[in-house]
Amino acid sequence: MSTLTSKQPSIQRLFLQLLKQNTLQHAYIFEGKAGTGKKEMALWITQSLFCPVSENGACGECQTCRRVKDHHHPDVVEIQPDGQSIKIGQVRALKEEFTKSGMESRRKIVIVQDVEKMTVQAANSLLKFLEEPDGDITVFLLTTARHRVLSTIQSRCQLIHFPQLSRQQRVEELTAAGISDDKAAILSQLTSDTSQAVALSKKEELLQLVIAVWKWYSFISKKDDQAFVYVQTDLIPLAKEKEEQQRVLDLMIILLQDLLNIRTQSNYSPAFVKQVKELEIDASRFRPLTVAQLMEVGLTGKKLLDSNVAAQGVFEDCALQMLAVIRKNG
Ligand SMILES: [Zn+2]
Repeated sequence: MSTLTSKQPSIQRLFLQLLKQNTLQHAYIFEGKAGTGKKEMALWITQSLFCPVSENGACGECQTCRRVKDHHHPDVVEIQPDGQSIKIGQVRALKEEFTKSGMESRRKIVIVQDVEKMTVQAANSLLKFLEEPDGDITVFLLTTARHRVLSTIQSRCQLIHFPQLSRQQRVEELTAAGISDDKAAILSQLTSDTSQAVALSKKEELLQLVIAVWKWYSFISKKDDQAFVYVQTDLIPLAKEKEEQQRVLDLMIILLQDLLNIRTQSNYSPAFVKQVKELEIDASRFRPLTVAQLMEVGLTGKKLLDSNVAAQGVFEDCALQMLAVIRKNG
């Protein structure tokens, strides 16, 4: 069996059964967060339908399987948003593609990425297509926001929910992609999207940011007022963009989660792997309630950043409030 979809073995088993029984529906909505393997599953099912080699799911290696995987198969059409939306022209082009002479008798697959981004016209056009499918067509509509998909489309499709991958699965995926263990531990917490994690892992800045956030936390945990000045001298120069500023607080919250879980969960694997000894010491110093209050400060800071309050002020305020929490609780 192809390894394309190892992320969601139970969904893969379900579809293997449907394929064997020849009971695949015309249209599916695959719904779930980024990185849960929706596209990979649609491609694997497509491979399995076309693969001339294996009867037990796709072989993953023959020329047909490779053409599907590389998006070069003539009977597979993939649609994704053109800018902010999927436009009616894209659906029309798809219909034209399928009515071309010589192709009518063959099975065809449509994979639509981010289907919630369809304009109403495009959606209506797709609906007609779903109502009167010419020949043997299977449609996979992928979405991270099912509530934004038109209900008329939802009612014509079978919904398959893709659950979030476990922490361990995500770490394994990242290490398989060549990312070192300690980086994978942090990245698996920062994002559930593997391709985003891989892109982030190549950025030198991320590592600097991790070190800086750890240092910032160390000042705070030692009740050292330098935590305040450190914002201006070190944190802000490293986090000029809004995305990086959010990441500072994300990392702080991940660190505090480590602090909370390292003592209460026996098999817990921390994100801040390299600082595990210090984390264990601090975990025995601080009560869970104290850590929860620190987290609350971090989460409030994130909300302020979201509403466009300047980062330096937000971070300085976080430093002061976190210092106060620790001084009050010992
Ligand atoms: Zn094959």
